[in-house]
Amino acid sequence: MGSLRNPNLFRTVIQQADTSECRESGDISKWPMSTDLDIEFDASSQLISIYSETYDVPINNARSYFCSNRLPLTNLYYRSLSCEDCLSDSFMTVRFPVWKNDWCYITSAYCPIHLKALKSPSILPSIENRILNCYLHTLQLERSPAKYEEKRLALLAVKAQSWMQSRAISHPLEAEALLSLYGLFLSRRTLHAVEGVAASGFAHPPRSPYRGQLDVQSRIDFGMHSANGAQRGGALFLIGWLLELFQTNDVNGAIRTNRMVRRALPQNARMLGYLTARIFMTREEGDLFAQKLRPLKDYGIRGMCEFLNALNASIKSLR
Ligand SMILES: [Zn+2]
Repeated sequence: MGSLRNPNLFRTVIQQADTSECRESGDISKWPMSTDLDIEFDASSQLISIYSETYDVPINNARSYFCSNRLPLTNLYYRSLSCEDCLSDSFMTVRFPVWKNDWCYITSAYCPIHLKALKSPSILPSIENRILNCYLHTLQLERSPAKYEEKRLALLAVKAQSWMQSRAISHPLEAEALLSLYGLFLSRRTLHAVEGVAASGFAHPPRSPYRGQLDVQSRIDFGMHSANGAQRGGALFLIGWLLELFQTNDVNGAIRTNRMVRRALPQNARMLGYLTARIFMTREEGDLFAQKLRPLKDYGIRGMCEFLNALNASIKSLR
């Protein structure tokens, strides 16, 4: 196990090695520590307990090495978003594609280094080969720096992204409200609807093969977990706009240079509230989320209050 070089194999290898004959004593420092932050790990994963038993490391220590700073991770099935440039870079430096933990957060949209939207191959890779397949996918791409218009939006989305991520850690009580808002921007009224989501202007949402009725929480979960980098960036941009995290000049610049922003940004926060309420099919669904979003009112930011008032007014008109 000391010779393990590919974090992608970590899961499989630990499981295979979990028989008493194969166990060998080891030291956590023998693992590739320079990249351990980039090894994806689920805090709730059973592997942490296997790891802790195998190496006799207290479970909390193992967690602190591998868990995700309490930020919500996306469901494993959808964790195929990556920065193509980072994957290529890691291959050049450590000779294998390193999967960054940062890419697995549900609120990660852009790579802050390369200012490109996180992407996944058009065919969803299997979990076992996800990292390698995503890397192979990058081999087929011509590497080019982010375009000016993308960079401009990326800088704003990255700002909102890091704000959201640090806020979720420093103010855990607000995390649910912020994530609910994010989810609302990424979801649709029905899974097969093409429009209706506030962030749909940023990319076409993936279609689901599932045709049944889902409740609002499941639609929102699906929207969040399946959104691509550009959509997530769009949702983050809208949140940053409502929270007034950006300078007016920067927003105007993004509107001028980026057609996605032009297409998706409503005239004012009130309008965004009305649009967002379209995801709800019943008053009950709306009330559930109005409740969840309530803490956002305490920010006392004008745009956010106007948005929430319009959203609540629309919900009240539902049956
Ligand atoms: Zn990158």
